[in-house]
Formats: sequence, structure tokens, C-alpha cells
Amino acid sequence: MLPDPQIPTEVSPGDALADQLGRPLRSLRLSVTDRCNLRCNYCMPEENYVWLPREELLTFEEITRLVEAFTSLGVTDVRLTGGEPLLRRDLPSLVRMLAANPLVRDLALTTNGVLFAEQAEALRGAGLHRVTLSLDTLRPERFLALTGRDTHAQVLEGIAAAGRAGFTKSKIDTVVIRGVNDDELGDLIEYGRGVQAEVRFIEYMDVGGATGWSMEKVFTRAEMLERLAKRYGSVAPFEQRTSAPAERFALPDGTVFGIIASTTTPFCKSCDRSRLTADGLWYLCLYAQSGVDLRRMLRAGASADELTARISFVWRGRADRGAELRAATGQRGVFIGIDQLRQDPHLEMHTRGG
Ligand code: SAM
Ligand code: SF4
Ligand code: SF4
Repeated sequence: MLPDPQIPTEVSPGDALADQLGRPLRSLRLSVTDRCNLRCNYCMPEENYVWLPREELLTFEEITRLVEAFTSLGVTDVRLTGGEPLLRRDLPSLVRMLAANPLVRDLALTTNGVLFAEQAEALRGAGLHRVTLSLDTLRPERFLALTGRDTHAQVLEGIAAAGRAGFTKSKIDTVVIRGVNDDELGDLIEYGRGVQAEVRFIEYMDVGGATGWSMEKVFTRAEMLERLAKRYGSVAPFEQRTSAPAERFALPDGTVFGIIASTTTPFCKSCDRSRLTADGLWYLCLYAQSGVDLRRMLRAGASADELTARISFVWRGRADRGAELRAATGQRGVFIGIDQLRQDPHLEMHTRGG
């Protein structure tokens, strides 16, 4: 395939790839499916969606080739996500293929945990390094109200299975919504301590899919710290900020937890991550309205050099800082309405991968 005329065809090895704001290309979130077995009302509130056509989903071989192009340009962290990644058939085979790439230093998975207990050992055996499990509540009736499904017990089994399968450094991610689960912060930290997983609280974000979002429902980082200080006495910053989205804090007994304050305190300045959808569209920001069609290039016969040239060219031009721009919006409301989401499923959080 011929490269676009304006795109350089050579990337010299040692030439560190940085975008317009000097941010490196380090982390890739790989959505392996847009389907999900939950209906979290902050992400996928509808029962039915316009699903990606199956023939357009990247095969494992195609994903592996694309990941090789990304790692040759500096990506070291790859996270499998979705939708619910464990719905993708034979995920351990993909993990095995990606784990064979020596440039992938951190191979992680984000899952809602429902199917994790039955796949934990196979995933660990295939070479998965780490897992993040999403858990918003310890109460089954709340879980049902939040997700539309009665599978809370399976999620807890999944979390327990992570330790049994030998995973360490597991994380639990909790989206905190005012009036829904903001009274469970301390209980979730206690639970995380019991299963040896670090809990991270995420501010409710106005991403695509969050059609019921409003600023009033955002339980802010400041409020979380205040709430926890009331229960535990003092909460101290644990370490310097890195490019990781979570700020970490320690309780008096040394228990560490994180807060991802994307809504009130965005961290775009250090954002080194981009996202690949299950059908091969590459998004430079969670809030980006359009992506780069890498599947088309791949299926038109692009060589590895052509893929890396394209990726490198696009990354060098990146100036995205979606959350910062959203935070600067006065009268902030729903980001993308349901009609627009229906017309373009790629705008959905469950399609581009959280
Ligand atoms: N299904 C998997 C899961 O839930 O872990 C992986 C995909 S999900 C889109 C990834 C993460 O995005 C989850 O931790 C979820 O809580 C988070 N998420 C989805 N919608 C969000 C929103 N509106 N605000 C903040 N986080 C959100
Ligand atoms: Fe919930 Fe994850 Fe499914 Fe979204 S993709 S509905 S956050 S389980
Ligand atoms: Fe990165 Fe975009 Fe999120 Fe900012 S909003 S941290 S640029 S993905």
C-alpha cells in the first residue's frame, strides 16, 4: 500500500516520539470487544446498542501486528479492556501472543470481574501480568440497581480468584457517584485490604455513554478525601505524581488507595495513553470525536514500516487534552447526547475502552 504523500516513511530508532505537548507514546488500551454483560448506568445504560459488525473486528493476528507497530515506537504498557474483555472468545490466546512481545513490559487487563474466576488461571498461565477489577459497591442490591444484572457474587468470586491464581498488585476501580455509593468509600478500602488489592476511586466522568451525567452527581476528589479523613483521622499523599492517572494516598495504618480525579483535576499534561477499538480505530484521547482507521491500512496490505510511519506521524501531531477542555467548560452537562451516540457507536466509552 502506498503511504500518504505527507507522511514520512522512515522513523529513525532512537528518535523519541513525542506529541505536540512533549508527551511520549507509552500506553495502549486495547478494546477487544464492544459487548458487555453488565449495563452500568454511567457507561451503558441502554439494553441494546448498535454493535460493531463482527467481520470488522480485528483478529488476534491483526491485533498482534498493530501492537508490534506500537511497541516499536515506544509503547511498553498494554491494557486489554472493552466492553467486557472476557466476553471475547479465547482471550488467553491473545494474551499469549502479546506476552511473547519482549517490548511489552506491562500487560494488564481491566474487567468487571463477572467471568474472571473461570478464566483467571488460564490468563495468568498465558502471561497476563496484572488485573484491575471494577467494583462500585459491596451491596448486592445496589449492584443490581447500578448494573441491571444480579451478578454481584460472581464479581466478588472473581476478585478472590485473582489472588489464588497468583496475581499480585491487583487493583479495584470504583466509580463514585453522589447519592449512589459515596457512603461506601471506607468499606471498599477495608474490603480491598482484605483481598490485597489497592482501591482507586474514580470521579464520575462525562464521557460518551454517560447520558445521565451531571456535575451535581460528581463526588469530587476533595469530598472523597474529606470523607475518608473523617473516618481515619488523616490522609497523606503517598508519592509524587507519575504519568499514571491515579494520585495515591496513605491512611495512618499505611493502607494505600488512589483517586483518579479526571473530572475536577484532569491530568492531560502527562497523558501518554491512546486507545484502539476492537475494529481497529485509533483514538488519541478519551474525548476525541474521531479516530484513525488502522484496520483499513492493515487490510489494504500496509507493511510494518508503513504502519509505524502513520502512527508516528499522527502521534507527533497530537495536541489532545479533552478532560482539561471539558473542565474549562462553564455550565458543564452531558458530553454527547443519545442521538449522536446512536449514529456513531465509536463515541461510546464501551467501544473505545475505558
Ligand atoms: N468492562 C470492564 C470494566 O468495567 O472494568 C472494562 C471496560 S470499562 C469501560 C473500564 C472502566 O471505565 C471501568 O472501571 C468503568 O468503571 C470506567 N467507566 C465507565 N464509564 C465511566 C464514567 N462515566 N466515569 C468514570 N469511569 C467510567
Ligand atoms: Fe460497566 Fe465496564 Fe460494561 Fe461499561 S464496559 S457497562 S463499565 S462493565
Ligand atoms: Fe489523556 Fe484525553 Fe484523558 Fe486528557 S482526556 S488524560 S488527553 S485521554
